[in-house]
Amino acid sequence: MSAPQAPVHRADFDQVMVPNYAPAAFIPVRGAGSRVWDQAGRELIDFAGGIAVNVLGHAHPALVGALTEQANKLWHVSNVFTNEPALRLAHKLVDATFADRAFFCNSGAEANEAAFKLARRVAHDRFGPEKHEIIATVNSFHGRTLFTVSVGGQPKYSDGFGPKITGISHVPYNDLEALKAQISDKTCAVVIEPIQGESGVVPADVAYLQGARELCDKHNALLIFDEVQTGVGRTGSLFAYQHYGVTPDILSSAKSLGGGFPIGAMLTTEDLAKHLAVGTHGTTYGGNPLACAVANAVLDVVNTPEVLAGVKAKHQKFKARLEQIGEKYGLFTQVRGVGLLIGCVLSEAWKGKAKDVFNAAEKEGLMVLQAGPDVVRFAPSLVVEDADIDEGLDRFERAAAKLTQA
Ligand SMILES: *Cc1c(COP(=O)(O)O)cnc(C)c1O
Repeated sequence: MSAPQAPVHRADFDQVMVPNYAPAAFIPVRGAGSRVWDQAGRELIDFAGGIAVNVLGHAHPALVGALTEQANKLWHVSNVFTNEPALRLAHKLVDATFADRAFFCNSGAEANEAAFKLARRVAHDRFGPEKHEIIATVNSFHGRTLFTVSVGGQPKYSDGFGPKITGISHVPYNDLEALKAQISDKTCAVVIEPIQGESGVVPADVAYLQGARELCDKHNALLIFDEVQTGVGRTGSLFAYQHYGVTPDILSSAKSLGGGFPIGAMLTTEDLAKHLAVGTHGTTYGGNPLACAVANAVLDVVNTPEVLAGVKAKHQKFKARLEQIGEKYGLFTQVRGVGLLIGCVLSEAWKGKAKDVFNAAEKEGLMVLQAGPDVVRFAPSLVVEDADIDEGLDRFERAAAKLTQA
């Protein structure tokens, strides 16, 4: 048993935490499936999924089992030694994807950091220092380290921290002509989110990803897909690249990969991986046995025909009802996204007010997400029960009714 702990409240956040977040007024203390309870015992339905992380909901027995079994065995050894869960996880990811090699880390930003460093390293080794330019897309999001905010290129995340990483340019998303005009033999990599997540759940067009693939091949540039948000079943395929049928050279994964336990992965081919020779890159915690044991269990459940087909069926259920609600209350004009990454684009009258929708939903006992100020985002558990979808969308409709009548 652990020692008794002093009570804490939301107000403590403002006393003892760095003020870089503005968390909701309640504190969740327990979860089961797609339900969460707060300190006061109030129950909420969770369509936020910890921002596309809780891929199997809360306290899924397979994940609790994997975590506790590993917790009783071995937590950490560092990368001076390898470990069984990491090797099993790498085998699973290699077997299920284009990749031959995996690198494990602890977050999406770190997976992208490794991807960008690998791309630059490969170009440096093969072509020399001139070929180091990275092309990313406007409004992309790749994490919060200095390299990843520089590649993301959004001033609200990257300005005010001194000099940025240079050699990075940004072209409009889904605009193949713009990419064609920007790419050159100095380009080492093009990085794309197959669906822009944070910036409004904007899916790529198939022709755009195909065209990007061709342009990269023509200019000896690597195609990087940031699948931190779209990966691990979210689209109804294990990874979004499989949904689109366009294969990258490097793929980054995190969020859903650990189902709530921190882990990230960079996947790539053998030919590219060899450029990260011993000592070129690393992380103390990356591939730690606890994280990898949980991720193994996540993949065992998610990468099955039943769960992946279920994602597509649940998408239809969400979409049909959300379109109906959007129309009835004049709240949104479009419901977009793939699988269980869904964005509702607010109508002219509600533009900029995604936070109001978030607050109204919370009052009805429902957790949703924003994706920028103009889009309400849903990223629930992939195994959310149909009854929970119905109940959650009933709550959402009540929120929409109250909000639009106020
Ligand atoms: C969340 C996210 C990241 C950053 O992941 P962290 O684990 O927060 O570092 C990177 N790319 C995309 C597409 C994301 O959605």
